Amino acid sequence: MNTQTENTPRASVRRKKLGELLLKAQLIDQKILEKALEIQKSQKKRIGQVLMDMGVINDEMIAKGLASQLKIPFLRLGNIQIPKEVTDLVPQEMAENYMLLPVKVIKNQLVIAMTNPLEFYALDDLRFITKMDIFVTVATQSDIMFAIREFYPRQNLGMTLRADVGFGENIEIVGQVKEKEDNVQDLLNLTELPPVVRLTNTVLVEAIKMKASDVHIEPQKDNVVIRYRIDGIMREIMQLDKQIHLPLVSRIKIISNMDISIRRKPQDGRAQVKVGDSRYDLRISSIPASYGEKVTIRILNPNAGGVGITELGFSEKDLRHFMETIVRPQGIILVTGPTGSGKSSTLYTVLKQLNSPKVNIVTVEDPVEFDIAGINQVQINPKAGVTFADGLRSILRQDPDIVMVGEIRDGETAKIAFQAAQTGHLVLSTLHTNDAPSAVTRLLDMGVDSFVIADSLLAVIGQRLVRGICEKCKIPDPLTPQIFDQLEFVINPDRTKKFWKGAGCEACQYSGYMGRLGIFELLMITPTIRAILSRNVAAITIRKAADKEGFSTLNMDGIAKALMGLTTIEEVFRVAPPEYDDAAQESLNNATTNRESASVSSQHESHKPEPPSSIGGIRPDKILIVDDNLVVLKVLKNILESQNFMIVSATNGIEALKIAVQEKPDLIITDYIMPEMDGMVLITKLKSQLTTRFIPVIMLTVKNEVDAEVEVINAGADDYLTKPVNPKRLIVRINRLLNRPSIEAE
Ligand SMILES: [Zn+2]
Repeated sequence: MNTQTENTPRASVRRKKLGELLLKAQLIDQKILEKALEIQKSQKKRIGQVLMDMGVINDEMIAKGLASQLKIPFLRLGNIQIPKEVTDLVPQEMAENYMLLPVKVIKNQLVIAMTNPLEFYALDDLRFITKMDIFVTVATQSDIMFAIREFYPRQNLGMTLRADVGFGENIEIVGQVKEKEDNVQDLLNLTELPPVVRLTNTVLVEAIKMKASDVHIEPQKDNVVIRYRIDGIMREIMQLDKQIHLPLVSRIKIISNMDISIRRKPQDGRAQVKVGDSRYDLRISSIPASYGEKVTIRILNPNAGGVGITELGFSEKDLRHFMETIVRPQGIILVTGPTGSGKSSTLYTVLKQLNSPKVNIVTVEDPVEFDIAGINQVQINPKAGVTFADGLRSILRQDPDIVMVGEIRDGETAKIAFQAAQTGHLVLSTLHTNDAPSAVTRLLDMGVDSFVIADSLLAVIGQRLVRGICEKCKIPDPLTPQIFDQLEFVINPDRTKKFWKGAGCEACQYSGYMGRLGIFELLMITPTIRAILSRNVAAITIRKAADKEGFSTLNMDGIAKALMGLTTIEEVFRVAPPEYDDAAQESLNNATTNRESASVSSQHESHKPEPPSSIGGIRPDKILIVDDNLVVLKVLKNILESQNFMIVSATNGIEALKIAVQEKPDLIITDYIMPEMDGMVLITKLKSQLTTRFIPVIMLTVKNEVDAEVEVINAGADDYLTKPVNPKRLIVRINRLLNRPSIEAE
């Protein structure tokens, strides 16, 4: 290509900084520039943006100033028409990243409009992609943003989020968007920007793909943290620029019919999304917090209650007793446990089992989490003054055989539920208590008479969810003698028996766990227990009587499941600790904690150097270097540590992937050819999961071939450099990707 015909800024001008040019154009003075540079250091924004934020300059002044200083044309994009074959030359992602727009083609020259012609990487990239000479014009940022929206149709979904091509497009927001006031029009426009739509969709699709139950969007001082609750455990998925917070939250509010103009008051909303063939109901709530609105999205699983009673996970004995109980014509069955212990799923499973054309089943729920065909489900609305008690009263008039009450929260609901149970109805409900025997105490506290409880209560289930062991990386878990000793408090474990754990693999995101299962205790109200109950006694008395009849606690059921290799012993003790005296508890805690910390430190030892001293208290950026050549590793480490980066390293792709997930580096530099997993596969994997997708990756290789470079960039790498690399060249690329102010040589 003939660069002579280009008008791109000459090399000498290129090195100039925007601030200096604006100074020269007399748009700002030295004092303002210094102030802006100071702000820039702490905010990591581009200097132009800082100046605009300061209100000293607007984007048109910047564009015109640049145009006059660089002697290139200023272009207004107001009424411009751009043919599709021209926009096709430049990918949307690139246009958005560099804030530029292809305008027209004259012979083999592509005319582009951009906000900052000093971005010479943009020009290099453009030449590389289009194989054309570039003629640069300057336009305002707002014109370019508007034009990108107009000329890049949304079909381009999935450019940034490559892994979602084909999947991301399948998400569909079902539900109406309300009309908004004019004063929020700007915000509304913002929420329709393709990157905002795409990000919102991706956050939701990934959450559903990863089987998350909740998505948390948490604004911090300088960024936004997205966390998912997966298998009951909160997991940080990514950190985003603070600027995305308002558009992202507003977008979520729009799809869930909330008011985007209200940001200081809590709001609730709901939405339904379709991913593939499944529809998912979302319950959204927003609350104002110190750094902006915190949003929580609960994803209701359409497959809840999908298993049969036999698959719930009751022991053989408990299952037999339970099956006998649920076919009783009247009485009450309670499921206890904290929020998120799977109580509703258990109740839905029972309802599905009992559902037949011969019985009339009615539910009162808040919210209706799962639709069951043939059952009347009533949603209550406590905020509008419709409580469980009201709902229950009204459905009892419909003469149901079986009633499910979402939760007994107050004395009034408890009393009506027990009345129903005494008058020919089978009542199912949940109660928020720690274990099954405590349910009785809670009911007494709520004002239900002891003889009423004794008369109607049939059974109480206590339940928890524990994480299952990942089948892909399951290995035996040799227990220390101390743990075995502690286990003898609970059961008589056979020392020849084995426990299991997950070693951690790609499939389980190195957690060793996959999916969840229930652990249960079932308190049957036998004639003996019934006699004790009617005397208005403490839970401990009931428990002792139950023990004599072979009551098996949550912890015991958990240990049995751990011995079966379904979960780990740590998980059982975390979720359902055994009950014995305090001293024994403490030594057991120490035993398990030591085990955990020992295994964690051995895993991380080689990757956790002391962080280099930070400048001005700012956390140094963490870079992961992946190379099988230890000399290269050492050289790179020295270069980068001298630049105040914190370094972690890996010698192949498998190891790197694990570190990337666990340590969340700010940037990754990887070699191409390595044993086990090469750099190409590593990049593909990094870019195919949300946790690592936004980490910039530089490929640093001896392969000086255009085909390899194209392949690597297509896989999602952010840059490609060949070895041996000039340290300055490497550092300037790193700083650009990390958005750090670069020190340039004049
Ligand atoms: Zn695994």
